[in-house]
Amino acid sequence: MAFTLPPLPYAYDALEPHIDEQTMKIHHDKHHQAYVDNLNKAIAGTDNENKSLEELVASAGKISPAVRNNAGGHWNHTFFWDILSKDGGAPSGSLAEAINSTFGSFDEFKTKFNAAGVGRFGSGWVWLISREGRIEITSTPNQDNPLMDVADVKGTPILGVDVWEHAYYLKYQNKRPDYLGAIWSVINWKKVQENFDSAK
Ligand code: MN
Repeated sequence: MAFTLPPLPYAYDALEPHIDEQTMKIHHDKHHQAYVDNLNKAIAGTDNENKSLEELVASAGKISPAVRNNAGGHWNHTFFWDILSKDGGAPSGSLAEAINSTFGSFDEFKTKFNAAGVGRFGSGWVWLISREGRIEITSTPNQDNPLMDVADVKGTPILGVDVWEHAYYLKYQNKRPDYLGAIWSVINWKKVQENFDSAK
C-alpha cells in the first residue's frame, strides 16, 4: 500500500513569526511530499511494499539507502509536525520533573539540546528520547532517527527538531542557533508529554 502525505495539523502560518509560512509550505508540501513519493517509488514491486513505516524504519540497516532515507524522512516529518503548535509554553507534570532531574532545569535542557542541534554537522535531527527508563538528548545524520537499527543511540523519540537548512534557511539563513532558539516558542508540550507517557 502506498504511503500518503498527512495534512499539516494547523495552518501554514500558525507558527509565525517563529517559523514562517513560506518555510512551512515548502517544507511540508514539497520536501515531505518528496520523501513520500520517493519512498513509494523505492518500494514499488518489492517485499518492502507490504511493510509498515515503523517496520521499514526499524530495519534501516538492511534496506536500500533510498528506502532508508525516504522512510526516515516520512517518519521524522510526520512526527515533527505533531510536536509543533502555536501555543508553545513549557513542559509540566512528570515530563518537567524528568527534565529537571536529568538536566538540572528546563533552561539547562534547552541549552544542551540546542548545542546538540548546532553540533550536528551538515543535515540531521536532534532528539529527546526515552531509553531504558531515562530521557536523553541525541542527534542523527540525514533522515536517520533513534528508532533505526543503525542509530548510535537507540530509543523512543519524545521530541525531535529538524536541523536541515530547508527547515530554517528562508527566515534564519545560516543562523541555525537562532532557529533553535525560536523553536521553543512553538513546541506542543501536550503532545511531547503524550509521547513521554507512551514511551514508558
Ligand atoms: Mn525537513
